[in-house]
Formats: sequence, structure tokens, C-alpha cells
Amino acid sequence: PDDALACRIRAAIPLLADAEGAAPVAYLDNAATMQMPRPVMDALEAFRTTSYANVHRGVHSLSLAASDAFDGARRAVAAFIGADEQEVVFTSGATDALNRAARMLAPALDERSNIVVSGLEHHSNLLPWRHLSRITDCELRVVPPDARGALDLSAFLQEVTENTRIVALTELSNVTGIGCDLAALSAVVHEGSDALIVADGAQGIVHGRRSVRDLGCDLYAFSGHKLGAPCGIGVLWIAARVQERLEPESFGGGTVSEVTEKETRLLGSVERFEAGTPNIDGAVGLAAALRFWEGFDAAALLAHEDALLARLEAGLTLIEGANVLGSCPARHGCLAFSVDKGSPYDWAKIADGRGVAVRSGHHCAQPYLRALGCDAAVRVSVAPYNTAGDIDRALAAFETASCLLKGGGCGGHALCRER
Ligand code: PMP
Repeated sequence: PDDALACRIRAAIPLLADAEGAAPVAYLDNAATMQMPRPVMDALEAFRTTSYANVHRGVHSLSLAASDAFDGARRAVAAFIGADEQEVVFTSGATDALNRAARMLAPALDERSNIVVSGLEHHSNLLPWRHLSRITDCELRVVPPDARGALDLSAFLQEVTENTRIVALTELSNVTGIGCDLAALSAVVHEGSDALIVADGAQGIVHGRRSVRDLGCDLYAFSGHKLGAPCGIGVLWIAARVQERLEPESFGGGTVSEVTEKETRLLGSVERFEAGTPNIDGAVGLAAALRFWEGFDAAALLAHEDALLARLEAGLTLIEGANVLGSCPARHGCLAFSVDKGSPYDWAKIADGRGVAVRSGHHCAQPYLRALGCDAAVRVSVAPYNTAGDIDRALAAFETASCLLKGGGCGGHALCRER
């Protein structure tokens, strides 16, 4: 791991840097929410104290300043994901983006259609499609992962037929950190059908820079808070080439060029997909977060994170009763393990008592966890500001948990002695 790089980043994260620069907590729950860098807080403060007003409505200077900031945020997002700004729809998060995508695609479905979803999904990229299949009477096909916990590409492609209207899958699992090769899959799907590919980028966007165009998907959803932006802002990227095939799913202020007594004429611009006052300062915060990450070499950040995960995985193999889920050579961002003794909750609580923040439970991916052979797991998820020391602290806590929960304890660890 490149701890010098991590410490440079950590210096900008108020919650993680105390006066001496030593972290008060080994924060390893980054897949849930990333800690907010100071420049994001500063951008929010500056916007709120100098330019706070509604957008696109007023001619007064404050409204123009707010509109400029909001439009600038859309451009920043577009640049970050290699898209056109007219393809960026602001949402409240990835879940909202995926639900909106599902509602927008409803008119394209009937009882002859099917939707194909991978078995690696977060509930947010499964339940909207399940609901959509129920209300349109179409078939939902969920393709289980292979024995390694990865996408079984050929099994997946076999389910895609001429009646497939939507293919939905994650770029990166929020449980095992295993990725799907979206580009390879998209190329085949687009050749054999006119299905739209909806990618859940909630984890993928955080680990490595990509252009959404290179992924080959048609829609791409992500949340700002997993990148250091505030909660409540997210993005649905809709490729320009498919926008005509989607109907806006909510209506109201900010979406129209003209409303008569009987008719509504929608705007031609992307704002037609954003009814109502948007989360303006959320967008400003997201742009600041993206600018923050653009200040670092993305390949170096990913290499550092990968090295942290490799250290963690190697350490876990030595800990009795911890079974790492999935066996893919390439993981990014997180890994999870099931436990033989005690519950994942116990392990996470013991870790918390030692200043280590990790997640336990089903990680909103119950079908995937069951396919991996368990109901719950401990998840460790890294960010570029984590150090080798954070990983070692987590491993020491897990070692104690293993010792304590297998019964008897070793008598050597503080907690084992307490027992
Ligand atoms: N998809 C994946 C893969 C995720 O990890 C998450 C967040 N855990 C979501 C979707 C949902 O994100 P949000 O709760 O920010 O809408």
C-alpha cells in the first residue's frame, strides 16, 4: 500500500485526522458512505453563504449565480464520467436513479417481454425490476453467479433473447468487490437485441476512472455520498442515443417549455427528466468531490486500494473461522467474509470496540449472499485514505473476535482476559 498517498488524502478528511494526524477510527465502511473531504465542506459553505437561491427561475443575480453553480456541477459530472452534460440527470442517489429508470422504461414492456438481471445485485438494482415485471406482467430472469461468486457471462447471455427489453447489472458488487465485464457483455447484448443495458455504478464509479461510453451500457446510476459528496445527490446517466426511448416519469416545474389548458410541451433538454427544485447544493458538493478526486492519479488510487485488499485477504486466511466470500482474482473496493462462530454482528461489534468500523449483515444483497452460501457476512470496504495500519488494526480486531467467539478465548487478548 502507498501510505504516503493515503496520508496526504487523509489530511483533507476532518473526521479521520486528529491533531497528531493519527486516525481516531479505522474507517472501513466506505462502500456504505465515504467520509467527506474538507474541500467539499468548503464548497458547500461557499455556495450556501454566497449563491444560495433557486435555479432556472429568476433573473436576479443570486438565482443566476445558483444556476451557474448547478450547471457547472452538471458539466463536472459529465467530464468525470466521459459523457455529455445533456446526458446527466440528477437524482437523489443510485436507488432513486434505478427506480426512475425502471419507471421510465415501463411503457416499453408487455407480457411478451423479459428483463434479465444478474444474481450479484444490491436490492436497489433488483427490486425496481421485480416491481416493474409485476406491474407490466413481463418475465424477470435472475441469473445466479458462478461458483466463484462472479457473473457467469455465457449463462447470462443465454437468457437474453429477442424479447429482452432491459438488462440490468452491477459494475462492481458491494459485497465481494467482484466486477462484471460490462464492456464485453454490452457488445454481445447490443449485437443480438435492442435491449437497453442499465448499469449500477454505485460501487464501480468509486474505484478507477472510466468513461461510461467505454462500458457500452445505455444507462448508468450512482450516488454522490460514496464519493465524498453529501447524501441526497446522485446521477442517472442516460446515453443521448436512447433518450427518445424513455418517457419522463415525473412531471412538474422545470420540465416544460409550454403548458396550455390541455397540452404540455416538454423541454428538449435533459431538465425534462428533473421535475421540481433539484438538490442544488448536493450537486455543488458532488462537483467539489469529483474535483477533489481528480487531483489524484486514479490508477495510483486504485493500486493502493487493491494492495490494501490483498493485505486484508492474506491476513484473513490466517484467522480461524473467517471465510472470505467469492474467489475472483480481481476485487476492488471491498471484500466480505462469513464467520463460523458467533455472528457477523458480534465480529463487527468487537471490531467497533477496538476502533474499527466495518459493516455486518446482508448488505442489501440477500439473494447474492445466499448464492454464496450464507445469510450474513462481515464486510470491509476501503477508500484511498485508508492505510496499511487500518487493515492491520482490523485484522487484530478480527483475530480477537475469532479467539473470543470460538469459546474459551486465548487469555492473551485483552478481551479474552476480560472473559
Ligand atoms: N447499488 C450498490 C451496488 C450499492 O452498493 C448501493 C449502496 N449500498 C446502492 C446501489 C444504493 O445506493 P444508495 O443507497 O446511495 O441509493
